[in-house]
Amino acid sequence: MITREQQQAAQKQAAEMIRQAGITITDAEADSIEVVDFGLSNLEKEGVQVLTLVQTERISVKVLAMLPNQTEPEHWHPPVDDDPGKEETIRVITGTVYFYVAGEDTFEEGFIVEGKDDCYIARKEIVMRPGDQLTLAPGKKHWFQAREEGAVMYSFSTIARDALDQFTDPDIVRITKVGVE
Ligand code: ZN
Repeated sequence: MITREQQQAAQKQAAEMIRQAGITITDAEADSIEVVDFGLSNLEKEGVQVLTLVQTERISVKVLAMLPNQTEPEHWHPPVDDDPGKEETIRVITGTVYFYVAGEDTFEEGFIVEGKDDCYIARKEIVMRPGDQLTLAPGKKHWFQAREEGAVMYSFSTIARDALDQFTDPDIVRITKVGVE
């Protein structure tokens, strides 16, 4: 759970980062930025801010803004009915992103969130800088982490069904609760 104040502060910070990255967004879009804590109540460490630009029955375009040193938890996009699962391309606009996929362990630059070794199994490290992009096949485990300056990325994909994404960390709930304080 996050508080309404936390949600608004993260939205504001994400909107500023997105605009500084040269992506023009309306105030209504800035207000629609989804602040996701994955049910872990530890937003600054594990979370992501998501602006959805396009969401149809077939495709999805999102801007992901990550706060300094924030980590998006390990997850994968499972098959749904006759759809093999979301195919996703991530393109970095600003910041350096450490991206991790299943494969040979080359973990070196990033860090594992304290006490969460079992929740981050994919350790093949890909260092991504502005202009770099990669395409993830459906079902492939991945997680990523921003550096001190935070990061802004595009996510282009087939239809996103975020609520059906699966996570390595059993404590994760994809829908973020916003509490009243
Ligand atoms: Zn993903």
